[in-house]
Amino acid sequence: MSTKEAECRAIDKASQELIAKACDDCVELSWDRYEKQQPQCGFGLLGLCCRHCSMGPCNINPFGGEPQFGVCGASADTIAARHFGRMTAAGAAAHSDHGRGVAETFLATAKGEIKDYAIKDERKLYKFAMDFGIEIGDRDVKDIAVELGEKALACFGNQEGEIPTVKLAPLKRQELWRKQGIMPRGVDREIVEMMHRTHIGVDMEYKNIIKHASRTAIGDGWGGSMLATELQDILFGTPEPVASRVNLGVMEEENVNIIVHGHEPLLSEMIVAAAQDPKMLAYAEEKGAKGITLSGICCTANEILMRHGIPIAGDFLQQELAIASGVCEAMIVDIQCIMQSLPIVAECYHTRVLSTNERGKIEGAEHIEFHEDHALEIAKDIVKAAIENFPNRKGNACIPKDQMDLIGGFSHETINYLLGGTFRASYRPLNDNIINGRIRGIGGVVGCNNPRTSPLDSYHVRMVKELIKHDVIVLQTGCSAIACAKAGLMVPEAALKYAGPGLAEVCETVGIPPVLHMGSCVDNSRILMAAAAVVKEGGLGDDISDLPAAGAAPEWMSEKAISIGHYFVASGVYTVFSGSFPTLGAKKVTDYLFNGIEKDVGGKWAFENDPVEAAHMMIAHIDSKRKELGLDKGTERVLMDMADRRALD
Ligand code: SF4
Ligand code: SF4
Repeated sequence: MSTKEAECRAIDKASQELIAKACDDCVELSWDRYEKQQPQCGFGLLGLCCRHCSMGPCNINPFGGEPQFGVCGASADTIAARHFGRMTAAGAAAHSDHGRGVAETFLATAKGEIKDYAIKDERKLYKFAMDFGIEIGDRDVKDIAVELGEKALACFGNQEGEIPTVKLAPLKRQELWRKQGIMPRGVDREIVEMMHRTHIGVDMEYKNIIKHASRTAIGDGWGGSMLATELQDILFGTPEPVASRVNLGVMEEENVNIIVHGHEPLLSEMIVAAAQDPKMLAYAEEKGAKGITLSGICCTANEILMRHGIPIAGDFLQQELAIASGVCEAMIVDIQCIMQSLPIVAECYHTRVLSTNERGKIEGAEHIEFHEDHALEIAKDIVKAAIENFPNRKGNACIPKDQMDLIGGFSHETINYLLGGTFRASYRPLNDNIINGRIRGIGGVVGCNNPRTSPLDSYHVRMVKELIKHDVIVLQTGCSAIACAKAGLMVPEAALKYAGPGLAEVCETVGIPPVLHMGSCVDNSRILMAAAAVVKEGGLGDDISDLPAAGAAPEWMSEKAISIGHYFVASGVYTVFSGSFPTLGAKKVTDYLFNGIEKDVGGKWAFENDPVEAAHMMIAHIDSKRKELGLDKGTERVLMDMADRRALD
């Protein structure tokens, strides 16, 4: 493969190098399979294909010719809205099933039924327990944790009322959700109802379908995902700023390289502990290695970066490349975003692909099932399996040099602390800097990678650079965060190099990068919490929809991204997607999602394929919100001496 061809697939040198190597090794990658899929089905791309019953599959002609209705009479708008609703339900289910697993482990830990986990952040335990209305007093930590675990677990199966965590949203937002009839009752209930409504012959009114998609998505963002994040912080510690490295160059030739890939920290936390065990290190030496290098891919990478500073090997489209390096002894996977091709790629090298979750087996992979009640023991077996594979390298190894420094670990508590200090932790400085115009607004840029939006990472990086250049501070999660970290945007020096003068000044004063890594995909709930905290701090309106803020997922591919995007929209955020959008062939439902829905929930969707143009759409939205708040004229900076200050008293 020529350098130019590799450059068309990825912007970073490490990926380019391994893409070319994989080609030389005759290994097929996602980009090759994407090309073989061309041309992709236009009906599917536009959301005009339905296969919900065996009278179909039915397609709708997007050019106005025949056919215009499915066999059952479903219109283009009904079909597209159902498709959108089911994507939301699947995304919400993925996040929430993760959240439920965490809640179960949390409860078992609190009851003392499993020994390898412990409550690490008592302060957060008390805070979250109070959010549930749990009495603290002089009660034992264990009792509080058991009650919290039971109440958290109940959120998933609630049939009536409201999920308690929605109370963390601004009051005005809660009232709006009640008025609109989209307040989620229970996480699972809304997902099940979404599946029912989109069954043949049930909900045939596109706005009504989207309305329930909103309820389902809110149950994800303010329910399932938020529960996952908060309980994980209590169990494993709330992230604090931590220095690390990112990209495929973090692997080390002389060491046993273990990569954890997937989503649930219940597994990866134990792998971190097992890989640091002196007995394991001695065993690695016995097998001829100098040590063990642990790194991560996708959101598991983000989880262990945030809490331990473990380096990140790569994002979604780099999972096959990590194996193609020829030095990855084991890729340990659990759930979500794992490519079925991994064992096939591994056939060319020596990598052991180890699936660990009962819900996620892969043909051709070895399976070592992980159970929380023997967590550390199983994690050690897995690490041992990787070490035993070290002598089996095939000699076709190549570790790219490329890696980048980054600072991760920006939980919303940390941002609060960094801005305000221990004794007066507060979002006040952020609000003040938005009000005085040094910071123009807040951008949330999240989501996946997709061969459709090649070269890899280019959409994320171009969009984020454009935002910070125009003084928009960017909050990131997921593979988008990994992409921008690789591009060097997550170190404090990036502020001086890439940010506009106002944002650069604030970043320099506080000592933070202009782009903040807030964690994994379930941690998008941290962005919701930060938005709610900014509203609560005052001076920028009384709802999230008033804030000069916008969101985006420029390289999205997963159904989880649709659920995330829709809970941001339903929370009042203007949200831009690129690449493709699942309703584009259906005019009325698309018009509603891109315009009409704003009057119902205060946020709306947009689609733009040029990431720089999309950044400017976000900036235009931020400016319109600044104008509504009366901040468009900017505030004159006044340097005050002591006499001026006394005069104010
Ligand atoms: S539900 Fe209607 S549109 Fe969908 S496949 Fe069946 S007949 Fe066709
Ligand atoms: S950002 Fe997308 S690809 Fe990456 S881990 Fe999350 S859902 Fe998967």
